[in-house]
Amino acid sequence: MSSKSVYVVSLGCPKNRVDSEVMLGDAGAAGHRIVSEPGEADVIVVNTCGFIESAKEESIETILEMAGHKGEGRCEELVVTGCLSQRYPEELAKEIPEIDHMFGSGDFREVIKVLNHKGARKELPILGVSETPAYIYDHNTPRVITGYRHTAYVKIAEGCDRPCAFCIIPKLRGPQRSRTIASVVKEVQDLCAAGTREINLIAQDLTRYGVDLSDKPTLAQLLAALEGIDGLHWVRLHYTYPSAFTDELIDVIANSSVVAKYIDVPLQHIDEKMLKKMRRGHSARITYELLERLRSRIDDVVLRSTFIVGHPGEDDESFAKLCEFITEAKLDHVGAFPFSTEEGTTAAMLPHRVPDEVKLERQAELMELQRQVSRAKNEARVGHSLEVLVEGISDESEYLMQGRWYGQAPEIDGSVYLSNCEAQIGDLVQATVTDGSDYDLAAEVVAGPAQ
Ligand code: SF4
Repeated sequence: MSSKSVYVVSLGCPKNRVDSEVMLGDAGAAGHRIVSEPGEADVIVVNTCGFIESAKEESIETILEMAGHKGEGRCEELVVTGCLSQRYPEELAKEIPEIDHMFGSGDFREVIKVLNHKGARKELPILGVSETPAYIYDHNTPRVITGYRHTAYVKIAEGCDRPCAFCIIPKLRGPQRSRTIASVVKEVQDLCAAGTREINLIAQDLTRYGVDLSDKPTLAQLLAALEGIDGLHWVRLHYTYPSAFTDELIDVIANSSVVAKYIDVPLQHIDEKMLKKMRRGHSARITYELLERLRSRIDDVVLRSTFIVGHPGEDDESFAKLCEFITEAKLDHVGAFPFSTEEGTTAAMLPHRVPDEVKLERQAELMELQRQVSRAKNEARVGHSLEVLVEGISDESEYLMQGRWYGQAPEIDGSVYLSNCEAQIGDLVQATVTDGSDYDLAAEVVAGPAQ
């Protein structure tokens, strides 16, 4: 079998990125060459996102851009995978005939068949999309970690069984399916043996981990099993669900030596009426109690959340309540997204639509309130001592390095700009904060890399 060169574009969320890394792992394990430029590839794979309108547009633009490498370029086969091909396989095949093969969000391990195929392109079917995605990788699955070696995402479960009105993900990613604790522990051990220091745990809903497994392991038990792994420094929790925090889970986070005191918990809204319309399955009281429980039992806990503005039914009063909450709750990191009508969701049928311009005004207003909260928190950190994971030369100045403290997740939160830093990428240094801005910190290194 002659080896082929392959280029993978990974769009959307870190869960999709893990799938892309598995596709690269399969390609590498089969002897194919992974290239970093589409122009050098025999086969181009676009791993798409289909979550909301803007993501769908970006995916289609990227497919068309990559299709440009066929014909005069070296590319022989264009493959599309992920959520957009899971959602619109027939439409894509009709609209973009340059696509040679399409796989769903749970079928990406079929891509290797395209790479290994010797015969004519047309011998393989165009569509390889399972109606209900059911796959999840494990510790034996080949995977190429893209990006820095010192930080990696580990998917502990895929899919979602919750009924949130605005969300198409259960239809795109299928029902919840979890990996075993043993499999996750083995993967984390292997990653840390290869130099990873920070593990970002991901799923559609981290807090429902294990509910689908016969022995019903819990997230708390999984976190406890990650204690003591050589080289592991931070375990970060992404995509938790507000009404699913047990006392056991909070205690494990509070007392753990590796779980970063950082919790990402999408709240979406705070107004009772909106939580009902969104079918979030819990009241605002649960949210207030959760913040109280987390802050009273986890020292210096850092909280990230996301909110949807302009969901059908959101009037000025509901939005005012959300603004008040942002100012009062003083969350550390917030993302706000304008509601996107996604056919196939229950919210797509709801009345009382909010005009697009109002959605954008509300998004801007909410993010301005949060900017003020974030700045005040960062300014209050001046003089504090932080442990910082060094990530490279700063994008602000060649005389500065940059990194993140436990309160900053990769790719979505700000950075710490480091002066007096002699350390290497992946090192952990001690630094004193000298300045705080809207989303970033400046700090001076006072102690070199932890040995
Ligand atoms: S929990 Fe998250 S992924 Fe699941 S339906 Fe709700 S918003 Fe979507």
